[in-house]
Amino acid sequence: MTKQSMTESYPRFLHHGGADGVTGSCHRYIASPEHAMLVDCGLFQGQDADHLDSLEQHRIRFDLDSVFALVVTHVHIDHIGRLPYLMAAGFDGPIYCSEPSAKLLPLVIEDALKIGFTRDRRLIEQFLNKVDQQLVPLPYKTWKTVLDEKGRRVQIRLQRAGHILGSAYVEVDQREPDGQTHRTVFSGDLGAPYAPLLPAPKSPYKADTLIIESTYGNRLHESRKDRRLKLKAAVEHALENEGTVIIPAFSIGRTQELLYELEDLIHRGGERWQAMEIIVDSPLAAKFTQVYRELKPFWDAEAQTRIKAGRHPLSFDNLYTVDSHDEHLQTVSYLAKTGRPAIVLAASGMATGGRVVNYLKAMIEDPRHHVLFVGYQAVGTPGRAIQQHGPEHGWVELDGERKTIRAGVTTIGGYSAHADQKDLLNFLKRMKQWPNTIRLVHGDWEAREELKRKFEQLGAERQHRLEIVLPGNE
Ligand SMILES: [Zn+2]
Repeated sequence: MTKQSMTESYPRFLHHGGADGVTGSCHRYIASPEHAMLVDCGLFQGQDADHLDSLEQHRIRFDLDSVFALVVTHVHIDHIGRLPYLMAAGFDGPIYCSEPSAKLLPLVIEDALKIGFTRDRRLIEQFLNKVDQQLVPLPYKTWKTVLDEKGRRVQIRLQRAGHILGSAYVEVDQREPDGQTHRTVFSGDLGAPYAPLLPAPKSPYKADTLIIESTYGNRLHESRKDRRLKLKAAVEHALENEGTVIIPAFSIGRTQELLYELEDLIHRGGERWQAMEIIVDSPLAAKFTQVYRELKPFWDAEAQTRIKAGRHPLSFDNLYTVDSHDEHLQTVSYLAKTGRPAIVLAASGMATGGRVVNYLKAMIEDPRHHVLFVGYQAVGTPGRAIQQHGPEHGWVELDGERKTIRAGVTTIGGYSAHADQKDLLNFLKRMKQWPNTIRLVHGDWEAREELKRKFEQLGAERQHRLEIVLPGNE
């Protein structure tokens, strides 16, 4: 290829978020000077967001004139949370996503609207109706033509990514008027193999350009077996002491994975386990669990086997949901007083707010109870303080009150449903035709740097020339 044709060639890529951080994913696929497609449009969160007032931070500042479609890889808020802002800025094109994502997306957007925009029921309904009109659910493994103009054709195909239900990686084929073709693969967030409920992602056959996440580009997860053992030990500690296991959790996917694992532990655990109550104290998490149940056909083979055996992995007998705030307060005081063994899942995941804070306030000073962390705890959050100071019975500030940590504390890694370094490398290794260019996104600097080195090593071993790009946000 000559230098001249290089400068004129398409597709090109820009990143409006999620390039040099792990949130706010929004990638621009530029098919021509007049045609662009967005892949995801997520919110900035945590450290990526705290330097600006949030409404201002999320306002869409990039040009939308040439944007003809949005493709959603999955419904986590850091991948779709800016959809209301995008629509407010005038985007009215199709929103392509998988069939399960199309069922889950309105729930997530409704919640995002309530938090960031309005509690006005009528406005929310109007907005959700509009989203519904723009949503185009696509079956997996099926090509869809999204642009066909003057001899230029762009097609997309979704493949299962094994991250949360409905998650997909996206293959994009572009055919130029002169017959040249180019295949791009956007990984979205990739899942780990052996995730409960979800089949492991299979690598794509080929790509010319691969745009891949790198969240855990420098880490390896605990195995599923180790995680189950730790989960079992934490629950047994609470059972022996007649206490409660408090799990700060929200994120779609993680709560359902945990419920799935707990059902299995109860199934195998004998009488003592069967007497234990599992409480999901979050109306939204309960709704997601309900939709997860409806999406059974998308569960993996292991889950299907359990269903055939007459089990109900996400709706077992000892599972209770708490809806109203009064019911929530009653549950807190009941569990704090009675010492009836129970497991509670409540948001927020880092104990920065939400119902879990009331449980912690009522129980953290009592050694019968146990706090179990299943997700990342950011610096400066109560979750991190409990994790850090719990073992030596230090203190944590909750709602302005200083509490001594006497409850047991356990952390389990790996329920985050993200591929680790080995899985990310395998994604490339198992492709039949390797890309020439890899763009590493969705990871902090250290993760991307280390993954870059590893990919370069793989390229050298195979004697395949790989250009690895660490793009920034535009
Ligand atoms: Zn995700």
